[in-house]
Amino acid sequence: MNPIAYFRATDANEALAHAGGGGRFIAGGTNLIDLMKEFVMRPAALVDINGLSLGDIAPTADGGLLLGATGRNADTAYHPLVREHYPLLTAAILAGASPQIRNMASNGGNLLQRTRCHYFYDVATPCNKRAPGSGCSAIGGLTRQHAILGASPQCIAVHPSDMCVALAALGAIVHVSSAAGQRQIAFADFHRLPGDQPEHDTTLEPGDLITHIELPPAAQFAAHSAYLKFRDRASYAFALVSVAVALDIGDDGAVREARIALGGVAHKPWRVPAAEALLAGQQPSATLFASAADALLSGAQGQGENDFKIDMARRAVVRALEQAVAGTYDNTGSERDRAD
Ligand SMILES: Cc1cc2nc3c(=O)[nH]c(=O)nc-3n(C[C@H](O)[C@H](O)[C@H](O)COP(=O)(O)OP(=O)(O)OC[C@H]3O[C@@H](n4cnc5c(N)ncnc54)[C@H](O)[C@@H]3O)c2cc1C
Ligand code: SF4
Repeated sequence: MNPIAYFRATDANEALAHAGGGGRFIAGGTNLIDLMKEFVMRPAALVDINGLSLGDIAPTADGGLLLGATGRNADTAYHPLVREHYPLLTAAILAGASPQIRNMASNGGNLLQRTRCHYFYDVATPCNKRAPGSGCSAIGGLTRQHAILGASPQCIAVHPSDMCVALAALGAIVHVSSAAGQRQIAFADFHRLPGDQPEHDTTLEPGDLITHIELPPAAQFAAHSAYLKFRDRASYAFALVSVAVALDIGDDGAVREARIALGGVAHKPWRVPAAEALLAGQQPSATLFASAADALLSGAQGQGENDFKIDMARRAVVRALEQAVAGTYDNTGSERDRAD
């Protein structure tokens, strides 16, 4: 077995130069190292990006926020500006993993964590995502965790992140550096559906470095947002279904604007603009919320074992909308998992 080279970069140009030829960036290592230990991924080189100055959280000129890619999930969740203006993001991050993992996991790494499909991790089984063209063991196999929306005959895996569901609802923008220069990717275009190439989780090119995640101004949603996550255990478990809701509600009680994103149901966080448009200008009601949920779940298709997710997702959307109307719930608790 070939040895893996290790390089600790001190600036972005150095990191980009060393990532060519099959190298991989490493930040918290909470996903990549696991995948290497299971022989699912075997990069030629590890380029450690923790020495880059990409850990800060800073306001933008237009009232948004710029999250550094190597900032830790826990620091992001508890940052005063995130808590005040983006409580949806705080709630989503704190619903994920465990305190220890959130203290280590980086913002950029969270976006690029890979699916938790059992077969992807089991190198003895066919998997189109791990070994393109080998087949999909999940189809006809164990599908409790798998997709009900946007799947393809090549792959029915879901994206496992909680943070990304909130970022989708908030309309985040991913800032990327490459040898060719810098560019920005709208969050809706960042993760992709599996189609015929499930080996590609995102629209990034090999060697692309995420430098920042930009949050557009969202103070109008801060008072009425909710993140709900349904899973098999109360902690340390990925979502069967999760939902991020952000509502801008006027003085007359009508919804001015709505954002709804689903997690655990597709290869990417799932948003349907037409479902959100149904709520705009309307007074909140159970009937209205049920219609929005139906529009969001339109075309949902179970695999048998995971059929329950369709109804679970519908109910989750309605409940999250009701909770958001009632007011944002502060789930930051005792702050016991802050990194000291
Ligand atoms: C037991 C366990 C439970 C978990 N539960 C949850 C959960 O419930 N919800 C949830 O959302 N997550 C959960 N996670 C996943 C965790 O959030 C991710 O592992 C973590 O966010 C990845 O961040 P990292 O910095 O450790 O990434 P790394 O492991 O360092 O990297 C992951 C990938 O991202 C790439 N990468 C990292 N940074 C950059 C960058 N700046 N630019 C380009 N590429 C980059 C790496 O090359 C690699 O391919 C869990 C993880 C574990 C181990
Ligand atoms: S669902 Fe996707 S990740 Fe899972 S076995 Fe099939 S191809 Fe692989």
